[in-house]
Amino acid sequence: MAVRTLLQDRIAAKIEAWQARVQATQAEGLYFFNQPVDELLSPTRVRIGQRELLMFASYSYLGLIGHPRINAAAQAAVARYGTGTHGVRLLAGTLALHHELEAGLAAFTGREAAVTFSSGYVTNLTAISTLLSRHDMVFSDKLNHASIVDGCQLSGADFVRFRHNDMADLERCLRRARPGAARLVVVDAVFSMDGDIADLPRLAELCQAHDAWLMVDEAHSVGVLGAAGHGLEEHFGLPGVIDLKMGTLSKTIPSVGGYLAGRADLIHLFRHAARAFIFSAALPPAQAAAALAALDVIQAEPERVAAVQANARYFRDQLRALGFDTLNTETAIVPILCGPDERAYAMVRECQQRGLFALPVISPAVPEGLARLRTTVTAAHTRAEIDLALDVLAQAGRAVGVIA
Ligand SMILES: *Cc1c(COP(=O)(O)O)cnc(C)c1O
Repeated sequence: MAVRTLLQDRIAAKIEAWQARVQATQAEGLYFFNQPVDELLSPTRVRIGQRELLMFASYSYLGLIGHPRINAAAQAAVARYGTGTHGVRLLAGTLALHHELEAGLAAFTGREAAVTFSSGYVTNLTAISTLLSRHDMVFSDKLNHASIVDGCQLSGADFVRFRHNDMADLERCLRRARPGAARLVVVDAVFSMDGDIADLPRLAELCQAHDAWLMVDEAHSVGVLGAAGHGLEEHFGLPGVIDLKMGTLSKTIPSVGGYLAGRADLIHLFRHAARAFIFSAALPPAQAAAALAALDVIQAEPERVAAVQANARYFRDQLRALGFDTLNTETAIVPILCGPDERAYAMVRECQQRGLFALPVISPAVPEGLARLRTTVTAAHTRAEIDLALDVLAQAGRAVGVIA
């Protein structure tokens, strides 16, 4: 047998680097990634092995994970359609259920039409690379999600990154745009590492002034922003200023998948030209039905939106009163700045030992020295659970020197 070493040699260095990094943190008892949850006890409590932990790292912002109506819808869909589809959407994979879900998403987002894909990640890849090609220009916030960055790169367009939520910098970049080049500005509605909110009023003005389209990723704003949880436009009272809304079905909506919502002609284009639609399997029935039921629940139980907003405000205010640096968060994503990676790990260990499930974000996901605990608060947390978490965080913060 021939020895195949060319790729092996290249990949060996990567394997070693990751093994060394993971083993070093494991040796110190600081490795908390990939922990398998054994059971969902409630939207805010999980069992890991023999231990019950209070969940402060969930994206189920409205506490819908495990909701009986959503579970029942998923089960009914399995009974009706089975567990998969006959392939990709364009061919035999489309179910009546997909069209119902897409109509529901169009209504929820206030757009003419919507289309779904098998993940949020792939939705960003396919959206940007379908809209743009070489010689076009895309302007992307420095803190945008990795799936947006990857979509920009895949598109082949000139990729311009502007300073985080800095509208003066975006304006400078747009002023320097090549005359005649098609322009897309793309941002997260709520930034996933910092929890701050995109400046939609100014974004809309700049896009108008510089002939650019505006695409917004609503992964962390659906259910969280706006009186009815409809997201960024509702938060600012600016309906219709976003040209293309992207969202995920895996966070507030407790399923999996992603969607695009916009003008009917644009969505029609995606149904025929988006490679993730043409070459990747349709959403399974259970997941589509769960997502559709979740839209109904969000509308039928609006008190959940008010609850996540009130809980997040209380949690942020109390953390700041304790002396934690929570950056500029205004949402349910609450970063707790720790400094070096090691201190973020130590903070997580102290929290997990005290029964609080929270996770670190370290470099390179965030800049060196800005490692943090990233906590999330949901509508399902009770005041007593939030107070318990605050108590644990205060103890942990003092133990590792994040607060005095
Ligand atoms: C989670 C997330 C995605 C990806 O969504 P998935 O459905 O998990 O693939 C895209 N954008 C942002 C901002 C996210 O936070």
